[in-house]
Amino acid sequence: MKSKFQVDKNGYYGQFGGAFIPELLYPNVKELEDNYLKIMESEEFQKEFKYLLKDYVGRPTPLYLAKRLSEKYGAHIYLKREDLNHTGAHKVNNTIGQILIAKHLGKKRIIAETGAGQHGVATATVCALMNLECVVFMGEVDIKRQAPNVARMKMLGAKVVPAISGSKTLKDATNEAIRDWIGNPEDTYYLIGSVVGPHPYPDMVARLQSVISKEIRAQLLEQTGQEKPDSVIACVGGGSNAAGAFYHFLDDEDVELIAVEAAGLGVYSGESAATSVLGEVGVLHGSKTILMQDEYGQVIEPYSLSAGLDYPGIGPLHAFLNESKRAVFMNATDQEALDAAYELTRIEGIIPALESAHALAVLPKLDFKKNQVVVVNLSGRGDKDLETYIKNLK
Ligand SMILES: *Cc1c(COP(=O)(O)O)cnc(C)c1O
Repeated sequence: MKSKFQVDKNGYYGQFGGAFIPELLYPNVKELEDNYLKIMESEEFQKEFKYLLKDYVGRPTPLYLAKRLSEKYGAHIYLKREDLNHTGAHKVNNTIGQILIAKHLGKKRIIAETGAGQHGVATATVCALMNLECVVFMGEVDIKRQAPNVARMKMLGAKVVPAISGSKTLKDATNEAIRDWIGNPEDTYYLIGSVVGPHPYPDMVARLQSVISKEIRAQLLEQTGQEKPDSVIACVGGGSNAAGAFYHFLDDEDVELIAVEAAGLGVYSGESAATSVLGEVGVLHGSKTILMQDEYGQVIEPYSLSAGLDYPGIGPLHAFLNESKRAVFMNATDQEALDAAYELTRIEGIIPALESAHALAVLPKLDFKKNQVVVVNLSGRGDKDLETYIKNLK
C-alpha cells in the first residue's frame, strides 16, 4: 500500500516525522531503519508473528455488534474487542512484533520506558516469553502511582529503574532510556510503545498494529457483506491503537476516521491532554510532531484521569491526519469517559479501559444517519481501572 498516508523515504508524513536524535544514536536507528521492512516482510517473521498473535495473544479478536448500544444511539455499533487480548489491551500486538525484530537483529537486552506501566508490562511479558533481559525505565512518581504494574513487571522478571530527574514522570523515563541506549549500542534494543519516536518507529508500530483494521475489514465483510464501515472511532494517547484501527482504511476517504483525545478536566482547564487543540509544532521523543509546550518549547505536563492518554503529544502520522483533515479530532473529559464506561458496563456487560471509554464517550456527540455502520476500537479492558471506577461511582 503506497499512499500519501504512508511514511516517505525520509521518514516523514507531510511535514511531520523524521529522526531528531543525538548523533551517538545514529548507528542504532540506522540499523533498524535499514532492516525493519526486510525482517517484517520475511517469511520467517510472518510465520512466527502470526502464530504468536493467534495462539499466545488470542487473535483474531471478535468484532461484536453491540445491540443495546446500537439501539440507544441509532446506528449499527460494532466493538473491536482488543480488550480480549492476552494482557488486556492492544499493546501486546506491538511488543510481540518488536521482540521478534529485536531477535532477528541479534539483540540480547531490551529496554523500554513506561508511564502508567501498561507498556512496561507488555514488554516484560514478551521478554519473559523470549528469555531476554528486560530493563524498564519509569519515573519515580509513576512507580509510586502505579504499584500493581510495577509488581507485575518484577514478577515477569524485569528490572524497573526509577527516573529521578525533572518531574520524575514519563519524559524523564524516556531520557533515561535514550541515555542507556547510547551507552549500550551493540546488544540493546529500545522497544517503543506507541506510534512515536524517531523514524522508523512510528511506521513500524503502525504496521504491527494494523492487524486490527485488517481483521475489521474481513469481519465486517463476513457479518454485513461490506468491508468498509462508515466511521471508525479510536482513542489517542500516542496513537497506536488508533493507527492500527485506521490503517487499512486510510486510503478509503469515504470511511470517516475519528480520533478522540483526553480533555481531562476540560480542554482549556489547564488540566488536559487534548494535543490537537492545544499543541504546536515541535520535536518530541525524536520526531517532529505537535505537542503541548510553553513559549520556551518546554513540554507542558499533560493531565488525564486515564493513565494511557496522559501524553503531551501525538505521533507524526496523527499530526498529519489532523493537519490534512483526513481524521476528525474530538475529545472527551474525565467525566464523559467515566459516564461512557458505566454505560457500556450496564448495557453490554463489558467493563472497558478508561482510555477506550474516551472513544465511546463521543457517541452521544455524533449525529448518525440511519443504518450507519460504526466501529469503536475497544483498546483495552477495565480491570486496571477498577479502583478509579469504584471511587467515582455515584
Ligand atoms: C496505552 C493505552 C492507550 C493509549 O495508547 P495509544 O498508543 O494511543 O493506543 C489506549 N488504550 C489502552 C487500553 C492503553 O493501554
